[in-house]
Amino acid sequence: MFNIADLQKEIIRLKKEKDICILAHAYQPHNILEIADFTGDSFGLSVEASKAPQKTILMCGVRFMAQSVKILCPDKKVILSHPQAGCPMAEQMTVEQVREMRRLHPNAAVVAYINTTAELKNECDVCVTSASALKIVKNMAEKEIIFIPDCNLGSWIQNQVPDKKFYFYSGGCPVHMSIRKKDVDEARILYPGAKLLVHPECLKEITEQADYVGSTTGIMKYVENSEHNEFIIGTDNSIAQHLQYAYPEKRFYTLSKYCVCHDMRLTTLVDVYNCLKGLSGEEITLDENVRQGAKSCIDKMIAYGG
Ligand code: SF4
Repeated sequence: MFNIADLQKEIIRLKKEKDICILAHAYQPHNILEIADFTGDSFGLSVEASKAPQKTILMCGVRFMAQSVKILCPDKKVILSHPQAGCPMAEQMTVEQVREMRRLHPNAAVVAYINTTAELKNECDVCVTSASALKIVKNMAEKEIIFIPDCNLGSWIQNQVPDKKFYFYSGGCPVHMSIRKKDVDEARILYPGAKLLVHPECLKEITEQADYVGSTTGIMKYVENSEHNEFIIGTDNSIAQHLQYAYPEKRFYTLSKYCVCHDMRLTTLVDVYNCLKGLSGEEITLDENVRQGAKSCIDKMIAYGG
């Protein structure tokens, strides 16, 4: 039987022996981040995968993230760490619903959050990340925007781009949407000196009270550059834990104990080990037409400076 340290050593040995690059999204448990070659947000990880010399990529995260790697790296073997790890938001809209929105608003550009399936990206004009969405929407020539699937991120952008007309699908991340105003009220009383940092997938009643609204990477950078010592973190609770490891002298509080993505928690360190042994995980395959359509959506995001 392995303990965690032994298992991590064996994983590091195996990934070198089998020449496999391990990517871990920032919401993964700390013991998985420690054995990864790259950690970060979903798009950043896809870019790292495309530059990595290894021909096999193991994505510790959820399905749309492994699909994003496959979109950018069609010649690599891409393995999702847990076959059941999906993203409720990425999968909540259908291709037919996107087509119907286009039919209703023929002059609008369709902007897809990166948290969408490859099939949905294939239907859209441009992709955005939470970090790049504002800049890209501002840079687009179109005056009408269909923003899918997250209406919370979409309306946060809409507030900052008042000259454009937005159409939303009523989708969103159930994890971030579980945070309520009473959580903010309670946290402000408990930690009066702390800065409140939240993700734009949160409801408007949360983002409008925050000291900073930004992507996971943005939240981490904010902490890195801040002289403050206390922070309330309004995104998946793993981020507060990772920050506490990185800055043990500072204090990090979770905004809500329910802000936990269960899909992100499906992968365990033993799953990573079993994936490297070829005993677990799922190889991602995509229809080539879908992949190319999704890729052009990502290419446009890069062209817009995302
Ligand atoms: S936190 Fe929300 S958007 Fe992110 S993977 Fe989980 S369900 Fe999807």
